[in-house]
Amino acid sequence: MKVAVFSCKAYDREFLNAANENLEDPLQLVFHEAQLNCNSSLLAQGCTAVCCFVNDHLDAMVLQQLAALGVKFIALRCAGFNQVDTEAAATLGISVARVAEYSPHAVAEYALALILMLNRQLHRAYRRVHDNDYSLNGLLGFDLVNKTVGVIGTGKIGQTFARIMQGIGCEVIAYDVQPDPSLAAAGVTYVALEDLWPAADIISLHCPLNKNTQHLVGTNAIEQMKTGVMLINTSRGALIDTRAVIAGLKSKKIGYLGLDVYEEEGDLFFEDYSNNLLQDDVFARLQTFPNVVTTGHQAFFTREALATIAQVTLDNLRYFEQGDFSKIVLVI
Ligand code: NAD
Repeated sequence: MKVAVFSCKAYDREFLNAANENLEDPLQLVFHEAQLNCNSSLLAQGCTAVCCFVNDHLDAMVLQQLAALGVKFIALRCAGFNQVDTEAAATLGISVARVAEYSPHAVAEYALALILMLNRQLHRAYRRVHDNDYSLNGLLGFDLVNKTVGVIGTGKIGQTFARIMQGIGCEVIAYDVQPDPSLAAAGVTYVALEDLWPAADIISLHCPLNKNTQHLVGTNAIEQMKTGVMLINTSRGALIDTRAVIAGLKSKKIGYLGLDVYEEEGDLFFEDYSNNLLQDDVFARLQTFPNVVTTGHQAFFTREALATIAQVTLDNLRYFEQGDFSKIVLVI
């Protein structure tokens, strides 16, 4: 089966090729660096399936173009599927699979990395030492032990993160539309969202992006938070209303902000624009705050995660080819 692989970087190709070589009957993978959108969809000509990542465009127009080319299956190389117009895909008879779980540890550990970096100001300390400046002014942090961490979304990643923070000695409270009894038994206290905002010293987002969670963190939520709160988002950018968060940073309500995702990241992340001028003024404003750390959607980026993503993606494609949908985690 011929598969067009979009948004494919050298590291994706390496892990996908390694997994493909292990198949008895390898797939014909056609790698494209291009993001999938209405201008690049023709690259899928002659392919039965396409393989996509987080910022590929899978809106109704692109799905119609793919369907017209004969594409029947989309294998996402990610867990989230907010980039897919699922209704349009269903209408067009295109099945969509995702990698439901690859390494919750990769993302949960990264959330901790952002917390430690912001708290102990590692980003500023690193630059100071390079500048022969060993002063400690402005680098004062706080002990994490006994602090209250609020986790929103306690699925695979949120649970892993909650347990890590318990290990450090934090009190963990959580909100989820479907609380997990095993996590509650492990000492995590589920609370209502309006009780989480004012109680948490650190808030970490681990729920999916959908109609109910878009701009979950907006002006109203920020007003209810503790002054000086640390906010961490390794989930999806649009969970946060960036303009409201900038206002919260300016008023000092938000004391620290760690972002691995950004609501307008689609035109920025995963590419090298170091020779270009940054056109996104909101993103540029974020970079001016000393208490903000942003990274380019790299929380998933570990060897273990890439190997599992490649393996599960190829398994999904192979099961589709064999008509065995029972083993695929389908979005629709
Ligand atoms: P999951 O499906 O296992 O867990 C999601 C949890 O969120 C579930 O428990 C669900 O009940 C809960 N939830 C759904 N709606 C909610 C709401 N309105 N309020 C509170 N909780 C809600 O997913 P996961 O594997 O833990 O991943 C979580 C998210 O992390 C993904 O949706 C994805 O967007 C993001 N992610 C980011 C990266 C990265 O590299 N930055 C990598 C992988 C996943």
